[in-house]
Amino acid sequence: MQLILLGAPGAGKGTQAKKIMETYHIPQISTGDILRKEVREKTELGLKAKDIMERGELVPDDIILKMIEKRLQQPDCQNGFILDGFPRTIPQAEGLEQILDRMGKNQLIVIEISVSDEEIIRRLSNRRICSICGKDFNLILNPPPVDMICPVCGGKIIQRDDDKPETIKKRLEVYRKQTEPLIKFYQQKGKLFRIDGLRPIETIFNQIKEILESQNRS
Ligand code: AMP
Repeated sequence: MQLILLGAPGAGKGTQAKKIMETYHIPQISTGDILRKEVREKTELGLKAKDIMERGELVPDDIILKMIEKRLQQPDCQNGFILDGFPRTIPQAEGLEQILDRMGKNQLIVIEISVSDEEIIRRLSNRRICSICGKDFNLILNPPPVDMICPVCGGKIIQRDDDKPETIKKRLEVYRKQTEPLIKFYQQKGKLFRIDGLRPIETIFNQIKEILESQNRS
């Protein structure tokens, strides 16, 4: 199973990816998570990516494609994977086709989770994450402990720099301009399924399972 979760930041891709991962035992590959780890560890890539990410812009395609190809070659991706936050541009999607061709297996399914801009802004401004393990919280739906210490790893719970209002606006603009064209790209290939992201988490997950299972049968 090779799955792409497409959708604006805050659409719920990460939440669904974790549920799919637990059910189907395939890894979630989030380019945002990989980049944030590089930034925390102050690697060469992390130092290059930090300012770009803080501005809400996209890290260059060639860097992202190299990072993804390396990740997809890991043994845990043999039976499939969930791509969360990648591809984000047409050149990334084209690069992914080439990577999969080199790997000798292209069975992509793309699920777009669609959510309005107003809802995205509401969700992202209430999002908090653990600065160490990345666990997600939401001030309204899933509040963090009052001491703001992560119950999983003891890390400090913070607001991501790019979840602050000015950057949210920029990220949405970038999504509509650079990432939304992927909807047509995959529609033309007959690989796209769309889901209403305003529905409850479990309803969305059931719809995803139906899509994945219908594709498995065909
Ligand atoms: P995310 O956690 O997916 O919202 O990603 C956070 C930030 O990481 C984005 O705003 C971009 O700056 C960068 N990023 C993550 N994935 C990609 C990608 N596929 N292409 C370019 N930049 C990315």
